[in-house]
Amino acid sequence: MTAAINHHGLRPPAFEYRGRLDKELYCEKIRLASLAGRYGTPLYVYSTQMIRQRLQAFAHSFKDLRHTVCYSVKANSTLGILRLVAAEGSGFDIVSGGELQRILRIDRHAAERAVFSGVGKTETEIELALCSKIMLFNVESESELHLLAATAKRLKKRAAISIRVNPDVSAKTHPYISTGLRQHKFGVPVSEAKTLYAQAAKERFLRVAGVSVHIGSQITDLKSFAEAMERVAELVRMLLHQGHEIQFVDAGGGLGIAYEGVQTAFAKQIGAYARAITKPFQGMKVHLLLEPGRSIVGPAGALVTRALYRKTNRKKRFLIVDAAMNDLIRPSLYGAYHQIVPARLSSSGKKETTDVVGPVCETGDFFARNRKLPVVNENDLLAIMDAGAYGSVLGSNYNTRGKPPEILVDGAEYKLIRRRETVEDQLRIEK
Ligand SMILES: *Cc1c(COP(=O)(O)O)cnc(C)c1O
Repeated sequence: MTAAINHHGLRPPAFEYRGRLDKELYCEKIRLASLAGRYGTPLYVYSTQMIRQRLQAFAHSFKDLRHTVCYSVKANSTLGILRLVAAEGSGFDIVSGGELQRILRIDRHAAERAVFSGVGKTETEIELALCSKIMLFNVESESELHLLAATAKRLKKRAAISIRVNPDVSAKTHPYISTGLRQHKFGVPVSEAKTLYAQAAKERFLRVAGVSVHIGSQITDLKSFAEAMERVAELVRMLLHQGHEIQFVDAGGGLGIAYEGVQTAFAKQIGAYARAITKPFQGMKVHLLLEPGRSIVGPAGALVTRALYRKTNRKKRFLIVDAAMNDLIRPSLYGAYHQIVPARLSSSGKKETTDVVGPVCETGDFFARNRKLPVVNENDLLAIMDAGAYGSVLGSNYNTRGKPPEILVDGAEYKLIRRRETVEDQLRIEK
């Protein structure tokens, strides 16, 4: 179990068992059980060290090329996480006005290192982005280009733009998080992009600045990235030839993590990713933008939950825990796998096969099905691993459940970066 959980190849490991007799799970130097005792469960716990190291590994792997890491805010947008990411020198990839307001909250100038993606930017969001002087608009349709041009003209603010192209490349990932095929709503076909660049170049308040692509999320097949980037490189060459100044190539995010099984060391994985992404641009003077989300924060977070009840319906065993699909929806939404481990390893080593489910009134409210786990007793604590990305951000108040608190651990210290949401918090905005 120790080996299984400490499989990220990072030192110091974020989550590991310590102790000689009773092995207890720690996040860095903090015992998860002590956090659960203080803040209650369910509870999100994140490792500062792991987030830092992953950002640094990104920077290191791309050091030979001009680049900016624009952390994808939607993966985990808690202010404490954004502050940590900004302190490492990262910019941001945002997909809404709300996310823009979050980054402005942590730093008035953060927008100057922000790229704005998304198929449905509203006029209000565009105005806010123009006034905040964001670095780049990733435009996803002709209509959006027209609205952006008109709004920029009206406000007399110049906007740097890139067209997000849809390269028609399969990302070989879950269909809900695959974005780069022609049948997906994202981006514009390469052929149409050429026309949009010509239109944009005629607008006084628009500056053609780059080409963008993002083919999906949780992608482990590097060939998909390579293929998309080859198509982008081809387009960039053509645009340069036509006299457009293509300063940025935005490669998007999407690098997958190993939720299941053994993960290769991150430095090695990211090295291979960097080679796949950059190869088509050899000899070209471009500034690469990278938008990783999941690969930065995913393995750095765990959802700590307490077992409420054991129950057996005929022969089917259930472990009912106090976290639910409203806290972490990935298993229900994508059938996603998350490793689940006890916060204290019993010496007996006995195992049993069980479903791990939450209290919400939906059969889809599960974290694991027919999972072989060490025997868990009522009141025991469990950690649902790799919950740092698309965990808390996808949370809801279904069943009038409050969102869990979030703790950011840094060595032997930790801070509460978001307190538990109360029913009062929820009712405040209702009449
Ligand atoms: C979601 C998203 C990302 C981040 O994807 P990850 O899989 O979390 O790395 C990057 N860019 C865009 C445009 C996105 O929509």
